[in-house]
Amino acid sequence: ILPNEPSNETLQEWDRVHQLHPWASMDDWQGYDNMLVDCAEGIYLWDGDGKRFIDGPGGMWCVQIGYGRGEMADAIAAQVRKLAYTSPFTNTTQPSAVLARKLAEMAPGDLNNVFFTTGGSTAVDTALRTMHFMNNRLGRPEKKIVISREKAYHGSTYLAHSVTGKEREKSRFDIEKRLVRFLPDVNPYNRPEGMSVEAWCDEKVADLEKIIAEVGADRIGAFIAEPILSSGGVIVPPPGYHKRTFDICKAHDILYISDEVVTGFGRLGHWFASEDVFGIQPDMITTAKGLTSGYLPLGACIIADHVLERCASPDDPTLFSNGYTYSAHPVSCVAALTNIEIFEREGILQHVREVTPVFQGRLRALKDRFPLVGDARGMGLLGCVDCKAPNFAAEKRLGQMIDDACEEKGLLVRPFANMAVFSPPLIITAKQIDQMFDILESALEKVS
Ligand code: PLP
Repeated sequence: ILPNEPSNETLQEWDRVHQLHPWASMDDWQGYDNMLVDCAEGIYLWDGDGKRFIDGPGGMWCVQIGYGRGEMADAIAAQVRKLAYTSPFTNTTQPSAVLARKLAEMAPGDLNNVFFTTGGSTAVDTALRTMHFMNNRLGRPEKKIVISREKAYHGSTYLAHSVTGKEREKSRFDIEKRLVRFLPDVNPYNRPEGMSVEAWCDEKVADLEKIIAEVGADRIGAFIAEPILSSGGVIVPPPGYHKRTFDICKAHDILYISDEVVTGFGRLGHWFASEDVFGIQPDMITTAKGLTSGYLPLGACIIADHVLERCASPDDPTLFSNGYTYSAHPVSCVAALTNIEIFEREGILQHVREVTPVFQGRLRALKDRFPLVGDARGMGLLGCVDCKAPNFAAEKRLGQMIDDACEEKGLLVRPFANMAVFSPPLIITAKQIDQMFDILESALEKVS
């Protein structure tokens, strides 16, 4: 039990000395103050000193319906009183059954089977383990290599981290190298000067064909792809890329896993982007984050009927040993259902589609106005300002410098090296988008 009202300084000290945060610097893990966040409402949060900020990153790409929803608190509290927990290994509950049906309706094609997880990493784990299980079942145990992409982020478990393509961050880990091959960067911004986006797309598709030819389709189990590589810097692949790579996977019986942990739940104006935005029906979709708008942890791996049919073997019954104590947690499932009700009642998907031109218009205008901005890209309510400087050392500090300048004026952004990334709560209004970009512009002026 905490003593009454510890001061902000005391809290910061306890945090520094005792709490390890994700992605902390191991050279100086007690030397950094994380922002002390006190409370939040709508698109705003307040720090321990009462200063208000627009939450540009929307938590971690997740607070779709905004903060402080009493309806969420009431639904969560009611479920805690009614049934806080039951084992998903032996029991089911009304919230998890209703949510599974709802997700199956939302997901494309025959993606009718929902396995609930604790978050995005465990959803990716589940997808990869399903592929392993299926190929072992089908008597082709060699067919398990995963094709992923440079700059992809798929999570922090051993498996999900192994298929994550951000090399620098993996250098101190023993990742499962046998499992994975990475395709080169797909970012159209990085194409050689003079090359058209169409030619770049051809080259990126050819990269996949080349790797399949090299490794052999009989050894490749899955291709995993974020519709937009989000943590990699909001990389929108060239038009047609997803459909063409999907068709290649189908032709080689390679399972296509669409990692929609960020792009799902309205970020691009649809429940899922795979089919509605990019025209593909993946074999599995992983989702988390916006599923509960970050109110409680929950993820899901949605698996197609045709995949599960190939996992079945009535002559050799075997359990699929995949599951978590908190799979299908009833309180998290109620949070997801209430979140979805709010989306539907308030027309949040439609709202995202309406305000997207304002968001993307202001974002792209930055490139013409500030020589510092090399690229300003995004889709839906996802955006990235990619900055350039004469040398690498100066460049990699730019994201943090922009964040610092924005914070002074009441806006949080997510800095990644030379980039600043935005994924605000989806309820943001056109006027608030303008306020956000006004602050960003003044920060870019300061940093320029
Ligand atoms: N997949 C993608 C595309 C992500 O962006 C993330 C997290 O940012 C994950 C998976 C991992 O999700 P979690 O942090 O909930 O485990």
